[in-house]
Amino acid sequence: MNTRFLVESAQSGAETDATRFRLKGMLGATEYASIEALFSRLAREVTAERLAGFRRGDGGSVTREAFSFLGGVGALGVGVPADRGGHGHGLTGSLAVTTLLAACDEGGLVLGANVQSEVACSWLLRAEADICETHLPRLVSGQSIACQCDTDPSADEPTLAEVDGDEIVVTGIKHYVVNGDQADLCFVAARMGPSPAIILIDKSRPGVSVEKVWDKLGTRSIDSASIRFDAVRVPKSHLLSRHGLRQMIVWNEVMSRLRLSIAAAATIIHGCVLDGIMAHASARRLGGRPLAAWPVNHHALSQAAADEQLMIAGVAGAVRRLGRSPDVVSRVAQLKWFCVERACDLARLACDLEGGRGYMAESRSLGAYKTLRGMRMAGGSQTTMLTIANHTLANQAETEPHTRPAAVEMEIA
Ligand SMILES: Cc1cc2nc3c(=O)[nH]c(=O)nc-3n(C[C@H](O)[C@H](O)[C@H](O)COP(=O)(O)OP(=O)(O)OC[C@H]3O[C@@H](n4cnc5c(N)ncnc54)[C@H](O)[C@@H]3O)c2cc1C
Repeated sequence: MNTRFLVESAQSGAETDATRFRLKGMLGATEYASIEALFSRLAREVTAERLAGFRRGDGGSVTREAFSFLGGVGALGVGVPADRGGHGHGLTGSLAVTTLLAACDEGGLVLGANVQSEVACSWLLRAEADICETHLPRLVSGQSIACQCDTDPSADEPTLAEVDGDEIVVTGIKHYVVNGDQADLCFVAARMGPSPAIILIDKSRPGVSVEKVWDKLGTRSIDSASIRFDAVRVPKSHLLSRHGLRQMIVWNEVMSRLRLSIAAAATIIHGCVLDGIMAHASARRLGGRPLAAWPVNHHALSQAAADEQLMIAGVAGAVRRLGRSPDVVSRVAQLKWFCVERACDLARLACDLEGGRGYMAESRSLGAYKTLRGMRMAGGSQTTMLTIANHTLANQAETEPHTRPAAVEMEIA
């Protein structure tokens, strides 16, 4: 790893250059070249100072204006095809926005903007044409805000949807919903008869209420709310996705876009924390040598640097697979697990290496740790990521032995 470059970047405050360097690694030179102009333009607009101006009070969640700002500069719906109302820069363009937000310490907005651009827009692209044409442009411009309502209070209390004539009636409650307080549109996971489904519900419909807005440890730039749906009626055309047994696969494919964004964001946060702690531990002398030069710290920091390279390579591999490979859900789950796990470990180490300062509210490492704690659950928990990977590996173990001996024999022959 070019450690000197990273330390110098951190010291000179040239964070965009370090972010550009990492984004290039995650996308590959050719893909990066195709969105370089977009990245440079957005880097001038989407700055930490600008985004901080949208926060409520002292470090609260952003106002609606943050979304109209992001929409106005073309940072929402970046990956949505241009002929469907988006900006047509594909997944690579979308990851450019994610890396910029992550580098601005806006882990909350990483979640909020990706729920809007990746999750909600993906569902709308699958909807009937008039539903898509009505709502998608407003999400891309930031006039409307979307939320994804998945988390039931428990497995025994699912949100239920029933057909009643030309309408669907939805009843249930969803917890910890990012954008939930401000959202105009809810994309609600509900059980419809025997199978799961996604239903679009305008928040202004009778029966929808925000039950609670949560205070949080990190990801504070975005609101998280519990939303109640009390016999809410929507037209049948608002049923966006229902594929019987395949529905969970479709849902996981959509969620993989969010999980990949989280993995990319965790990679950028990891890099920023590493830059900062390398600068600190190189400058701070203890016991006659720099803190970073003590073997125990040197070893841990070297491992974190190696982790960063693995994270970048993992994102690069997943970017090439998304939408093209049947095992992408499992691959992205493994990647999200790895990136968030390693970044979390580094942020905790960095807090320790900062000594007392690492416990003070100003500590950037502590801020990163709080954000990464949220990313352990957002998009599906770390345990769930392992479970998805485990199922795939178990399936391979069940099916591959039938082919492997033959292949081995052929090699031996
Ligand atoms: C920052 C943040 C953003 C979020 N955004 C959204 C959002 O936009 N929309 C939304 O709907 N939800 C959102 N969530 C909620 C999140 O998806 C859930 O918190 C998460 O899926 C865990 O579900 P739970 O809270 O019900 O915990 P539980 O289901 O009670 O799980 C608790 C723990 O047990 C583990 N576990 C569960 N089942 C098993 C099992 N069978 N074996 C072993 N371990 C198990 C889980 O993985 C988890 O670690 C968000 C959460 C956070 C923190």
